Amino acid sequence: MSLIELNNINKTYTKGIENKVHALKDISLNIELGEMVAVVGVSGSGKSTLLNVLGCIDSFDSGKYTFDEKDVTTLSDKALSHLRNKDIGFVLQNFGLIYGKTASENIALPLILSKQNFPSSEIDEKVKNAMEKVGIADKSKNLAEKLSGGQQQRVAICRAIINNPKLLLADEPTGALDRATSSEVMEIFKELNKKENMTLIVSTHDPYVYNQFDRVIVLEDGKIKE
Ligand code: ADP
Ligand code: MG
Repeated sequence: MSLIELNNINKTYTKGIENKVHALKDISLNIELGEMVAVVGVSGSGKSTLLNVLGCIDSFDSGKYTFDEKDVTTLSDKALSHLRNKDIGFVLQNFGLIYGKTASENIALPLILSKQNFPSSEIDEKVKNAMEKVGIADKSKNLAEKLSGGQQQRVAICRAIINNPKLLLADEPTGALDRATSSEVMEIFKELNKKENMTLIVSTHDPYVYNQFDRVIVLEDGKIKE
């Protein structure tokens, strides 16, 4: 059984009556636990839409999505938010950090939102472990907005992995970074994949990034090309 099974997924955005965009067309795809997959394609080809569907943050019109043997369309809201919080981590291009809060406060957020009432010592421990994994342990008290782009992206990665998800999704994670920083971020992803067996799906149009992946899925106009 694969971690991810998409069968004939279709999604259309409707902006008014006449402006329909068929953003995903009959997407079928299996991804195994521990795989490292790049999703590439020009701007507008459907990469973000596909990642949002995979991350269960966006709905689709038809088809079937099975994540970890669960048909996601049949899950209750509660089960779905549990899945999003616990099993899936999401990293965005522009980091999506909350300014005015420190690095460690940003990273702890999913633990607090999970409503599991972790004692603060346990939260501190988990945050510290995650920060050590990505090499920013010394930045815990720094305000998010005072960090460099590369450091902010690492904080965003920590926040995404704080619950040890099976799947880590990253939408153009190096799009706002220079080459040297992109390369450091790629090393972190590869290490999480190797050491934690985390399944990684990363959208990018940078050949430097996608050439480092086992498998590359090319999207063209909402369809899988190869
Ligand atoms: P990519 O990430 O590859 O640039 P997207 O998934 O963002 O592609 O977009 C795929 C298509 O869907 C594009 O034509 C885009 O304009 C359209 N689209 C994306 N999001 C929306 C939205 N919220 N409303 C309407 N159309 C959208
Ligand atoms: Mg996009």
